[in-house]
Amino acid sequence: MNLREIGEFGLIGRIASRVTTGPAVRIGIGDDAAATEPTPGRLILTTSDMLVEGVHFDLSFTDPYRLGRKSLAVNLSDIAAMGGEPRDFLLSLAIPPGLSVEFLDRFAEGMLSLADEHAVALVGGDTCRSPAGLVISVTLHGEQQPDSIVRRHGARPDDRLFITGTVGDSAMGLELLRRGEREGWAVERHLDPSPRVAAGRALAAAGLATAMIDVSDGVVADLGHILEQSGCGARVEAALLPRSPFFREEAGRVASSPDLLALTGGEDYELLFSVRAEREHEVAAVLRGTGTTATAIGSITAGSGVTVVAADGAELALPRGGYNHFANGM
Ligand code: ADP
Ligand code: MG
Repeated sequence: MNLREIGEFGLIGRIASRVTTGPAVRIGIGDDAAATEPTPGRLILTTSDMLVEGVHFDLSFTDPYRLGRKSLAVNLSDIAAMGGEPRDFLLSLAIPPGLSVEFLDRFAEGMLSLADEHAVALVGGDTCRSPAGLVISVTLHGEQQPDSIVRRHGARPDDRLFITGTVGDSAMGLELLRRGEREGWAVERHLDPSPRVAAGRALAAAGLATAMIDVSDGVVADLGHILEQSGCGARVEAALLPRSPFFREEAGRVASSPDLLALTGGEDYELLFSVRAEREHEVAAVLRGTGTTATAIGSITAGSGVTVVAADGAELALPRGGYNHFANGM
């Protein structure tokens, strides 16, 4: 079915019919603005991410259902990285001619499946025509008590550094997709990442994370943001980076250096955080029941920048951009 047949309001109606809202949403989709009820004593966290066809996703290997999920997931991950509870979101779409209603239905279905998993409500948005390429913009609101919000700037020398889940999978999955593979652990991690919302909230509630960020650009790059804002350096042991069994088995098949891929591959949406050394032992218990674990990968130091050491203790030189992980096998 063509979008012209149902029109903008037809599409909004189809999206709205799938939405689940809770009592905090006083006015949802359909009026000039939404009205939501904040929890007394909490601040509102707001984040926005835009996904542009050809820049952030490729419709030749991204199905609409998982594209919908990922468009919300990247925003949930930002709220998770502040230790917040996600509440409600706006969805704005610029739609190219010829995109089918079936595509948009599946997209909304995927996005709202993840919204339901996290009990967040779609409360509005905007819809317009795009001359070429689909553009998806999501703005998500979350909440947290002022003193529980976790910033990027609280790391101090001797803090221990942790990361949830595993790293390198998503970058490997993207490369496998480019080579024509369509399934498997790494492909799934790239197309349908799991935002660590429960883990972020648990760390915030326990007051355990001194600084936190979600890993979208790669461990080294995102750690750099924590270090800049905290005025510290860090020492990371490459061998400690948590890798999935799939990555251990298969990364050598696609990447010239699996270590560098784990250190710099993007879009895993794991949480990278620092913890005072004397509270390091609490991390495992705090994350119990959150669906993920965290691994210690190094420490915060005085000075600046990230120093990565290999298993033999030698410092690992990190090429500054412009290098290709996937030189072999192409
Ligand atoms: P206005 O002309 O006042 O901006 P719109 O016609 O754009 O209103 O939108 C009508 C209603 O539909 C509003 O409640 C708006 O938030 C909602 N809406 C528009 N586009 C979307 C979308 N893509 N997803 C969810 N809600 C949407
Ligand atoms: Mg509008």
